[in-house]
Amino acid sequence: MKKIIIGNFKMNTTPSEFKSYAMALATKTKGTKNDVIVCPPYTHLGTAKQILAGSHIYYGAQNISEEESGAFTGEISASMIKDLGAEYVIVGHSERRGKFKENDKVVNKKIKTALANGLKVILCVGENLQTRTNKQAAMFVKKQLDDDLKGIYENELESVIIAYEPIWAIGTGKNVTVTEIHKMTDLIRKEIEYLYSEKAGRGINIVYGGSVGLTNYKKLLSNDFLNGVMIGNICLEIDNFTLICRENY
Ligand code: PEP
Repeated sequence: MKKIIIGNFKMNTTPSEFKSYAMALATKTKGTKNDVIVCPPYTHLGTAKQILAGSHIYYGAQNISEEESGAFTGEISASMIKDLGAEYVIVGHSERRGKFKENDKVVNKKIKTALANGLKVILCVGENLQTRTNKQAAMFVKKQLDDDLKGIYENELESVIIAYEPIWAIGTGKNVTVTEIHKMTDLIRKEIEYLYSEKAGRGINIVYGGSVGLTNYKKLLSNDFLNGVMIGNICLEIDNFTLICRENY
């Protein structure tokens, strides 16, 4: 079964390092039936266009401004990354929500801006440890979905991937059990069904992110309820990332 494998580089690698990486990844993953998406820093997107445009590897940005253009010094717009051939953009990553104080209203606006500019969205949702310990994870994720997807039409959902990324599992090596992930993907599908339709709930692509690596990727990707994984740290290790991208699931 075809899976979606997303690599989030975060603020890592230089453009030259990425150039070598992209060339190697394109060669090493040739023939894979999975959808491979790499999201390097903005400064690497020109190189991505040079190396990856027209290849089997998709690429995207890690963020965009919610504004279209104008007096927003330091910001990058959706049309700028679209012009560089980016197909995807990550929106609402917990590092942006936490460290850059992006709330659901901003996330919602970013999704609308991305879709209006023909970008596909990787929407990250997920609870922190305290919320999980207080048994409020389900309620929390539901509310994120309700607020983030406000005003998004059902036909636009085919351009949205939901990434369930429990904050406490990102970059920590802490493993979430497959049962816990299954419960959350069921909940996400039910909420999408409630907000849109049964078809939308069934059809929405959901990936899991949070310390995915060599010890757990097979266990995760062998399940039908999961459409793929989002990988941070390990995607920087090209041989390991290649292994995950090439596998037949
Ligand atoms: C992420 O940053 O989206 C992520 C999943 O990171 P890691 O794989 O390092 O936990």
